[in-house]
Amino acid sequence: VPLILTQFLDHAVKLYGDKKAIIGDERVFTYREMNERVNQLSDGLRKLGVKKGDRVAFLAPNTLEMLEGFYGVFQLGAVMVPLNIRLKPEDYLYILNHSGSKVLFVDQDLYNLILTIKEKLETVEEIIVHYYDGSCDEVNYDEFLEAHSKETFHREALEETDVCSLLYTSGTTGNPKGVMLTHRNNYLHALTCMHHLRVTDDDVLAHVLPMFHVNGWGSPFYYTANGATQVCLRKATPKSIFDAVEKHGVTVMHMAPTVLNSLLQHYDEHPQEMKQNTRVFIAGSAPPTAFVNRVEDELGWEFIQVYGMTESSPLSTISRIRTHFKDFSREEQSRLKAKAGYQMIGTDVKVVNDFGEEVAWNGKEIGELIVRGNGVMKGYWKNEEATMEAIRDGWLYTGDMAVVDEYGTVGIVDRKKDVIISGGENISSIEVEGVLYDHPAILEAAVIAVPHEKWGETPHAYVVLRSGQNAAEEELIQFTRDKLAHFKAITGVTFVDELPKNASGKILKVQLRNEYWESVG
Ligand code: ATP
Ligand code: MG
Repeated sequence: VPLILTQFLDHAVKLYGDKKAIIGDERVFTYREMNERVNQLSDGLRKLGVKKGDRVAFLAPNTLEMLEGFYGVFQLGAVMVPLNIRLKPEDYLYILNHSGSKVLFVDQDLYNLILTIKEKLETVEEIIVHYYDGSCDEVNYDEFLEAHSKETFHREALEETDVCSLLYTSGTTGNPKGVMLTHRNNYLHALTCMHHLRVTDDDVLAHVLPMFHVNGWGSPFYYTANGATQVCLRKATPKSIFDAVEKHGVTVMHMAPTVLNSLLQHYDEHPQEMKQNTRVFIAGSAPPTAFVNRVEDELGWEFIQVYGMTESSPLSTISRIRTHFKDFSREEQSRLKAKAGYQMIGTDVKVVNDFGEEVAWNGKEIGELIVRGNGVMKGYWKNEEATMEAIRDGWLYTGDMAVVDEYGTVGIVDRKKDVIISGGENISSIEVEGVLYDHPAILEAAVIAVPHEKWGETPHAYVVLRSGQNAAEEELIQFTRDKLAHFKAITGVTFVDELPKNASGKILKVQLRNEYWESVG
């Protein structure tokens, strides 16, 4: 069987045809029904002239239409281009033209964003609107489906190495780049995840991470293949998440730590029976150890951290405790769970110093994390130079600084670009943030480097206080001095109402650095 993603849906239809496949906006479809809709979608797209290799873009939150889109596009051998729903119209214009997308699917709620740039789209020939009420001038998705055939769709012959998606990176450190992932990349990545995340047909996944971003984008494959039920959350708020857990018996979720943090904040408002065997995968950035215990004690969910990036499909490591280590103390287990974890099957990870030599597994020596494996991208779309810089001798250079402990557990220290260099010493902004998060008055914190006459750079904190709580700048500075080597302590604080974040919940330090520079003139 060639490693083509459509095989996952075929498998589920064959074995779990009458089982609930997708739930979204109060609608439910079985695998058989979903497959019929997917066939209608592919048939309709073919009649619009979409061919193998053509790009088809999607601008939608987590909806069942978005999920159907994956397989509808893949059956044609076309390439999916998901768009981040929090971008600005000019960004959409850039990505749609850059990717050369032929058809654009857009959710009704986001249609206005496209109206303003519609005239400037160079390659988009058709816009199809997903909508669940009301009306508009473009093609209506449900009517589009109804007009086409539910019969088995005759597929294009594909190679495993054909590109299935162009995923633009989060743009945390600069402009987003279009990552080309292949069917093989995602197929093997899905098998790896099925194993490490122990996915079964009993699972009910709530799509909390946005599917337009690689962390959410990759997950439909392994849940579909196993005949699990997928609940699409249009909006991921504490209320919608807790409601889904209660109503649909959710067993697994993938989310950003910032979202999990907000669940802890609102837990009292939504006290309900939590499913005991729920597991929650945290992706995108690392929370402090204390956070792991809170999730397990207060929510009762198994906490598992994963590490990855768009360029590697995305996951490379997982922190789930190996059975081998089950006798470790709770403290030690929590410490390990808070780390990015160990390499997953099908990937090889290494931390190397400036000379390309692997650092010692002692949890101290810092180097750059490099990854080799089944998930590593084909390259960046129309950006040969960036591709050559990212992949050298078959290894993907992640731009993340890390250490490895004696068990092979990778701990992300910081992004190369976020490390603070003070008096020649490297300071991890993440380490300092970890200390700030222990302060009872602090809800969120981000630490950046600011210029210092004597030391070159020094750590400065942006802080959001919990509502009704107070803390003075001096007190927070002292708090970090008490808990860290003095050169790592913060030297100033800016209090803000919220931190700038991108759509995957990541704090945009680039923006904070810009704001800081503006504030000092
Ligand atoms: P851009 O590359 O456009 O600047 P980005 O790197 O944020 O954006 P993504 O591919 O979405 O785009 O994110 C990957 C990055 O997220 C990793 O390189 C790493 O810095 C961070 N990350 C992911 N998982 C973890 C984790 N478990 N712990 C710490 N950092 C993580
Ligand atoms: Mg990146």
